[in-house]
Formats: sequence, structure tokens, C-alpha cells
Amino acid sequence: MGNPRGFLELTRRLPKKRPASERIHDYREAEPLLEGERLAQQASRCMDCGVPFCHSGCPLGNLIPEWNDLVYKGRLDEATVRLHATNNFPEMTGRLCPAPCEASCVLALNDDPVTIKAIEAAIAERALAVGLPPEPAPERTGRRVAVIGSGPAGLACAQQLAREGHQVVVFEKADAAGGLLRYGIPDFKMDKALLDRRLEQLVAEGVELRCGVEAGVTVTADELEAQFDAIAIAAGAQRPRPLGVPGEDLAGVHFAMEYLTQQNRVIAGRPIGERISAEGKHVLILGGGDTGADCLGTAHRQGAASVTQLEIAERPPETRSADNPWPEWPSIFRVSPAHEEGGERAYALMTTRLEGTGGKVERLIAQTARRDGRGFVAEPGTERAFAAELVLIATGFVGGEPSPLPADLGLDVDASGRLVADDRARTRRPHVFAFGDARRGASLVVWAIAEGRVAAHSISLFLAGKRALPLAATG
Ligand SMILES: Cc1cc2nc3c(=O)[nH]c(=O)nc-3n(C[C@H](O)[C@H](O)[C@H](O)COP(=O)(O)OP(=O)(O)OC[C@H]3O[C@@H](n4cnc5c(N)ncnc54)[C@H](O)[C@@H]3O)c2cc1C
Ligand code: SF4
Repeated sequence: MGNPRGFLELTRRLPKKRPASERIHDYREAEPLLEGERLAQQASRCMDCGVPFCHSGCPLGNLIPEWNDLVYKGRLDEATVRLHATNNFPEMTGRLCPAPCEASCVLALNDDPVTIKAIEAAIAERALAVGLPPEPAPERTGRRVAVIGSGPAGLACAQQLAREGHQVVVFEKADAAGGLLRYGIPDFKMDKALLDRRLEQLVAEGVELRCGVEAGVTVTADELEAQFDAIAIAAGAQRPRPLGVPGEDLAGVHFAMEYLTQQNRVIAGRPIGERISAEGKHVLILGGGDTGADCLGTAHRQGAASVTQLEIAERPPETRSADNPWPEWPSIFRVSPAHEEGGERAYALMTTRLEGTGGKVERLIAQTARRDGRGFVAEPGTERAFAAELVLIATGFVGGEPSPLPADLGLDVDASGRLVADDRARTRRPHVFAFGDARRGASLVVWAIAEGRVAAHSISLFLAGKRALPLAATG
């Protein structure tokens, strides 16, 4: 620990976000990065605890106190190496991760935690600025692996395998690689140029990307099994959960992903179908999670007349409750940058039907939602109507999109639509591996990268009977 008094003398400070009134007129990132003296000062707040709980808070086991100390001492090249020892894409987690590490930071027991996520983003940014040289494998193994899906799970797995010397082909059914990083997460949360930089690095390391190819259809399971030694499935969990209420098929009612994907395609200059726009409309978003917040930010940027986000659960508490102690992830009321930009939030409401005339949505009818065991029921006599010209359904996902691939490969799928595999990504077929959202259900980028690395390790062991790249460098 470079500065033993850092946590006593300095408070947590992050750079100011761009003003909401400015940022709703563009799709550029809202949050600037830490740099210079401020970066070193914030890193010096790390106490280098004997037992760093942040290590176990981070699904990647990032070596947080080590890179904090290196940043404080200005040894940024070494910090870059330590950061990349456990994380393939820190510029992405540094922007997108909810930072469970900070929730479990020991300083958070009675003070504000270290700005771990912002320091991670700053180290990664500098690494990108000085260049991301490819890390090709010293020798080729001659083994071939097909990776299905180019989201963070598939890309992390592909990169680890290529660095082991295996020949890796990533199959992606969309017209561009990146999974939800490309066509789900809005540009104002992550600039897509970062994704392109990483893809360039992967290609330079020998990974072949084949976009516009649907595994199981364009290339069949039999063809994959004939051409590859192992198959790694990271096909995501993008099948949206339907509302299951009358009126869901009215014009103006869309799943969040149709809406978000389209806006991402517009910004990328790619072709779209019929435009879904919030401009001048009263917008209702159903679902209070990340996807709902992304719809909120997008609707404001498109010039919505009003935006209201409805959530079935009650409003979370402002602070941790007694049964949710440190170092657990705190279930508290959160305000994302999109929420700072405007809109209303309403809680404990269950949508019971959508109504309209001429086939177009005009109203949403909801009732007060009451908890009933693990689910919710509508309270009789509590009906409320909300004006709605655009309704966006962001109520979660129920497994992978329909595909013949799991059945054709002889894989099991559980009742929640997830591919059945153990926590080492091994399925019932020895040469087939499943991981990321496809195995866990809809989750987080950090978990996708972590599962991709674990899967690569299992695949390398299967292929060569030898140890693969270390999951976490500890030396
Ligand atoms: C709107 C939205 C916002 C989010 N925001 C955040 C956030 O801020 N922070 C965070 O940590 N997480 C966020 N998440 C979650 C995060 O994006 C996912 O957990 C993560 O992308 C999962 O990675 P993955 O690689 O498993 O799957 P995905 O990213 O879903 O990638 C799967 C890929 O597989 C492809 N595919 C599917 N089937 C086939 C096939 N048969 N052949 C070829 N290709 C196929 C798909 O087209 C897709 O490109 C968000 C999710 C959504 C929907
Ligand atoms: S990946 Fe997420 S949990 Fe891990 S150190 Fe970065 S911000 Fe924290």
C-alpha cells in the first residue's frame, strides 16, 4: 500500500457526468473517466486489506489492491498487465459493471468504497490509448474450436483459446459481432469503437469471425461436429418474457430489444425495418431493471413527450436493510444516469391489459401488485389507467432464442430455457460446452467474461489434457 493514510485523508470522488440537459441531445457516453492526480489519489484510498473481500466480490477475481497500488505509484504499464491477467475486456466492465466489488470493499463498512470500477476503466483507457498489441500463441495446436455467439462470453472464450494456440472460428447470426454489447447496450453507456478495437485485437490473434451465420441453420450441428474438435455455445438468453395480457399485440407495443437494437443500428448506419420512435409520444416502460433504464435514456434522446417506468415490485429501501448486510450486494433504490435525465417511476403495479382503437395502443390498465409467495397478485378494486402511445416491454428474458441447435447436439435445456452445463461449462456431450447467459440465464457482462474464461479452460483441458492459461494470475 503506497499511502497508508489515503483512506483517512481523501474522500471518494468521481468526475462530474456531462449535464443531463446536454447529454440527452446525443448518444455519447455520459461519464468522463478518472485521470491524472485525481486517479492516483482515488487509487491511494485502497487499504490493501489482509483479506481483500473485493476479490471475491468480483466474479473475475480481479486483483484490485494490486492494481490500485500500481496506479498510485504511477506504474500504469504494470497495472495494465495485472488488470488483463484476469479480465479480457476491462474497458467494458469499467463502464458497464454494477461493481459488486465496491459493495464488498472493506472501506464500504463505514465509508464510501474505493472507486474500483472507475480506476479499472481508467487503466483500460490508457491501455487502449497506447495500443493493444495482439498476444499471439507461441505455437499452434492444430485443434479447431467453433464458438457459437459473439457476445462477451463467446469473445472472452475465443480469445483465451486462440492464445492457447487453438484455431478458433466464432459464428454469429447477427450482421456484426458483439452480442448485446453491439445491439443491446446503448451507445451512451458504451462507445462501440471500444468493441471494434477489441475485435481487431482478437482477429490479429488469429480468431476468425463469421457474421451472418446461424449455427444450427446456416451451418448444421452435423457440419459443426464434423469440422471442429469442440463446440462452445455462448448464444445468450435473448428470448423476451411476454406480458401475457390482452392487448399485447396492439401496434405501438414492442419488446425492449426490438427498440434498443433498432436505435443501435441507426447509430451504426445499418439498415432497419419500420422505425419505432418515441418522438412526441407518451411512453410507458414495463420493467424497472437495466433494460428498462436503457429504454428510458433512449426515449428521452428521441424526444418523448413523457416517459414512465412501471415496476411490479415495491420501491426498494434507500439504505441496506438488516437482512442484507455487507458484503452482500445491496438491494437498494438506485438512480442510473438515465434516471437523472428525467421520467417518472411507479412501483407495485401489475399490468392487467392494454387497450386502444384502430389496432393502436392508447392506454395501459394496471392494478396494485401485492406479493404472494414468490410471485405477485393484483389487488381487486385498484385499477389505474395510463395514457400510452408507445409501450416497451422490459420484463426480462426466458432463455435462448428458438434454435434447433440444442436438440441437434443432444443437449438438455432446463425449465427456464437455459442450456444445462456444470459450472465448468461441461454439458452431457464431452466435446460441447455451454456458458454465459445461455447457461446462467440473463446476467451481466462481468459474468459472461468470467464464464467465457472458465469455458476456455475446460475446452483446453478437453483438447490437450494439459493446463490452459491461468484463470487468475496470482504471482
Ligand atoms: C438492454 C440490455 C442492457 C444491459 N446492460 C448491461 C449493463 O449495463 N451491464 C452489464 O453488466 N450487463 C448488462 N446487460 C447484460 C449483458 O449484456 C449480458 O449479460 C451479456 O451480454 C451476456 O453475454 P453473452 O455472451 O452470454 O450473450 P449475448 O451478449 O446475448 O451474445 C449472444 C450472441 O449469440 C448470438 N447467437 C445466438 N444464437 C446463435 C446461433 N444459433 N448462431 C450464431 N449466433 C447466435 C446472438 O446473436 C448474440 O450475438 C444488459 C442486457 C440488456 C439486454
Ligand atoms: S469487473 Fe466489475 S466487479 Fe470486477 S473489479 Fe471491475 S467493476 Fe469490480
